Amino acid sequence: MCHAGNGDKNHLFELTPFRFSSLNLQHNLLTHLQQVIRDRDPYLATEGHFYAQHYIRQQFAQWGTVETHEFEFKGKLHQNLLLNLPAYSPMPQSNPPILIAAHYDTVPGSPGADDNATGIAVLLELARSFATEPARLPIRLVAFDLEESGLLGSKAYVVELQRQHQPLRLMLSLEMLGYCDRTPHSQRYPAGLNYFYPDRGDFIGLIGTWQTIPDLIRLSHQIRKTGLPCEWLPAGHRGKIVPDTRRSDHAPFWDAGYRAIMVTDTANLRNPHYHRRSDRLETLDLDFLTGVCRGLIEGIRSV
Ligand SMILES: [Zn+2]
Repeated sequence: MCHAGNGDKNHLFELTPFRFSSLNLQHNLLTHLQQVIRDRDPYLATEGHFYAQHYIRQQFAQWGTVETHEFEFKGKLHQNLLLNLPAYSPMPQSNPPILIAAHYDTVPGSPGADDNATGIAVLLELARSFATEPARLPIRLVAFDLEESGLLGSKAYVVELQRQHQPLRLMLSLEMLGYCDRTPHSQRYPAGLNYFYPDRGDFIGLIGTWQTIPDLIRLSHQIRKTGLPCEWLPAGHRGKIVPDTRRSDHAPFWDAGYRAIMVTDTANLRNPHYHRRSDRLETLDLDFLTGVCRGLIEGIRSV
């Protein structure tokens, strides 16, 4: 942008601080998406996979020490990347953290824009937000590998958490956050749920267990206050009532007894490009994604 004349200056003063920060946020999210969206299957697109991993590490490193959790699968070492951010200073740092995670791998042959470059882009902006303005609780951000191979990165990490007897206040799995369709009947559901939920795919979904109902209520309330439609579903005990609800990195946390919530645009129940070559940047709704990120920042600050 070049220096503005007087007319432009007046226009700038009319913009509210909220609008400014929203534009910055959208710009940052788009930058992350442009870097991460590419073939990055850990076996068949190793170059893209390494590039995405390196980009996340570099972004995390702006805000603190990046830790690597290595795990082995089929004789090869894989990496989950972690960043710990402290709570704001009068609060005890020993409180159990909120763990927020997104997977960075894709299925072969898909550039993984919605699945899950959107989750990674939001994860990186949550890092910026909670590093520059700490939350009441410590925050741990994790980028998981090998989600698409059977939640392997998160399963290995949960074993490590249990070995260390580490409690968590809450776990959030960011799983596809940027696809929105406002036309009627654009949203599909597992059997029976369509009677209770909207038929337009313009909301962000929160899927938890009975244990997490107070958190689902609090988070959805804060997200709606930012202007984004939000729906929540308690999927019973460990999601066994609606098996579709177990298809991301929160499921190993449920199985280990942690409070965990998946945040999602509902994947193939809304997005026709799911796991296809066409899961590209042009299909995403950046205003929707920005709204999800802003809603999560407010929601997480309220926990
Ligand atoms: Zn996927």
